[in-house]
Amino acid sequence: MALKIVDSCIACGACEPECPNNAISEAFGTYVIDPNHCTECYGFYATQQCAQACPVDSCVEDEAHRESEEALRRKFHTLYPGRALANTERWSPPDGMSERTG
Ligand code: SF4
Ligand code: SF4
Repeated sequence: MALKIVDSCIACGACEPECPNNAISEAFGTYVIDPNHCTECYGFYATQQCAQACPVDSCVEDEAHRESEEALRRKFHTLYPGRALANTERWSPPDGMSERTG
């Protein structure tokens, strides 16, 4: 599942440079996440970097884009053919989503 940015975003821009997938961009005075590029940081970091950087907790689970860990793995390999995964043994999904299966 990708993350999304909700209305409480104050457009500080702190999340944008933290995304390893360049999935975050500014649009119409706020910031948005491209679900086709968000891997929940899978393959790069153990935790979701945008959510950690956000001072107002505006980076949250995007229920419309649920994905299993295997789906995130496939997305990573599609985005980065031949690139090695990193930190997957320590990776965990956003809070509250640890028991999904989809
Ligand atoms: S969870 Fe990771 S990959 Fe997804 S938008 Fe946030 S920083 Fe980027
Ligand atoms: S860090 Fe949070 S408040 Fe700042 S632009 Fe990103 S989502 Fe918005």
